[in-house]
Amino acid sequence: MAENNNLELNKENKNLNFVEQIVADDLAAGKNGGRLNTRFPPEPNGYLHIGHAKAICMDFGVAEKFGGTCNLRFDDTNPVKEDVEYVDSIKEDIHWLGFDWGDREYYASDYFPKLYDLALRLIREGKAYVDQQTSEEIAAQKGTPTVPGTPSPYRDRPVEENLDLFQRMNAGEFEEGSYVLRAKIDMASSNMHFRDPIMYRIIKHPHHRTGTRWNVYPMYDFAHGQSDYFEGVTHSICTLEFVPHRPLYDYFVRELADESYCPRQIEFNRLNLTYTVMSKRKLLQLVKEGLVAGWDDPRMPTISGMRRRGFTPRSIRNFIDRIGYTKYEALNDISLLEHAVREDLNAIATRGMAVINPVKLLIENYPEGKTEMMEMENNPEDPAAGTHSMPFSREIFIERDDFMENPPKKFFRLAPDKEVRLKGAFIIKCTGVEKDADGNISLIRCEYDPDSRSGMPGSQRKVKGTLHWVSAAHAVDATVRLYDRLFAVENTSEYPDRDFREMLNPDSLKVVEGVKVEPFLAENAVKGVKFQFQRIGYFTPDYDSTPDHLIFNRTMALKDSWVKEQNK
Ligand code: ATP
Ligand code: MG
Repeated sequence: MAENNNLELNKENKNLNFVEQIVADDLAAGKNGGRLNTRFPPEPNGYLHIGHAKAICMDFGVAEKFGGTCNLRFDDTNPVKEDVEYVDSIKEDIHWLGFDWGDREYYASDYFPKLYDLALRLIREGKAYVDQQTSEEIAAQKGTPTVPGTPSPYRDRPVEENLDLFQRMNAGEFEEGSYVLRAKIDMASSNMHFRDPIMYRIIKHPHHRTGTRWNVYPMYDFAHGQSDYFEGVTHSICTLEFVPHRPLYDYFVRELADESYCPRQIEFNRLNLTYTVMSKRKLLQLVKEGLVAGWDDPRMPTISGMRRRGFTPRSIRNFIDRIGYTKYEALNDISLLEHAVREDLNAIATRGMAVINPVKLLIENYPEGKTEMMEMENNPEDPAAGTHSMPFSREIFIERDDFMENPPKKFFRLAPDKEVRLKGAFIIKCTGVEKDADGNISLIRCEYDPDSRSGMPGSQRKVKGTLHWVSAAHAVDATVRLYDRLFAVENTSEYPDRDFREMLNPDSLKVVEGVKVEPFLAENAVKGVKFQFQRIGYFTPDYDSTPDHLIFNRTMALKDSWVKEQNK
């Protein structure tokens, strides 16, 4: 992008977040030759969650905004936990969110040779040494922020010996944990990360890309900044927990960079959400222990789970836009995300009728064997969405909850001798009920007003309640999965002494069989379609759904939109 445009943006746009402002200033100052290159650096050790979506929106978003580029870099430095399954899912999720890295797909493992060479150079320059203490000994010598650490007895090992040992570490001569390569920096530094941080450890586990070529693997702090440098990344945007790592990032990067180009780390606040967890380790545990059905279980805070549940990319991006980027940790209310989902689905979802808890209703004065097709709006928010027809007949299903034999005063739904409107059809009046041996209502008897057909003058009559319904003879059976929040407590981190699994919401999934849906819903139940079951909520077919056994996920219960719609 031309520099002029950057300057324009810088001057004009008061709505830049603080990261964008830093980028704009750097571009205006001509840093890195006026180049902007960010990166999103997932470790392929799990599926992406909505916290990652926040980072993705930042990394790709800022590049888009200022005409730069964003790399996708897999931070694959720990072969024990990583897998191609995760690589594939990460790529799918980023694309689904609407971002693209073009041909800039990189792997930290591609830099293992260069990093290894850099490590050799630092050893030769007396800036790194091989330690052979146990990790416990090393930890015990670290000191505390106020008490300086104790130097390792191997700190002053001669260069030749360090070179020899490091090469033998990589040749596979030593067991895991027996040796590490450490940077020789400052055991008394007030920044704990400067107290001779570990650069390399021995791992004898095949890597998903490099196989058994390496026996030593770089630590995050030794790999990340250098990978940024090798790729030409100018702005390395990450989350606040890396603030104390930044001096070390700069320290290692200085070994490579000069004034003409030097990557820079900038930190923003993580996304934390109420009623869920954002730790990949915990999410993996839920998956492995079968406490959820998989990484894409619709209750999971993963991108794949939200996709399966029926969230749209736009709703996730809108939510992230609204919570914004700051330098302070916060806990975001999950209802803000839910609001964003409803808002988007309200605009795009196709309306149809489904009865979740059906009770049969017989219209005594409607001719037997007759079927009329009623015209239904597909989406009142979007006239271009058109209409579909829905069969009406003598026997229909309505929700059991929409009828009360002895209703309280403000009950505006169906009750003996009361009238309601059947949405898009006729006004009916209850004439009686039939009950089974247990006293449960098995049939509601009604009469309809033939002049009240929707759209005809007789339908203008004021009737308080409007119900959804499905023609019994035409209804298709379906199963619905009703999801609720994954955890029963708002903030699991408030209970460090409790096992997080104990705080799971036992009612996070309710399966309801025998749901009756109108034929239009059944015919259009293809993967990814978004429906609003009138008065119930937003639904999408689950991946397990087949034409012979329809299964719908409830994306979100409906809130107030019905109140507005029912009077139309
Ligand atoms: P871990 O490192 O513990 O495995 P992680 O969630 O940090 O887990 P990474 O794959 O390292 O996973 O994350 C990739 C990028 O996503 C990093 O830049 C990280 O800062 C960012 N990120 C991770 N979690 C969040 C979050 N909750 N909010 C915003 N950004 C996040
Ligand atoms: Mg991380």
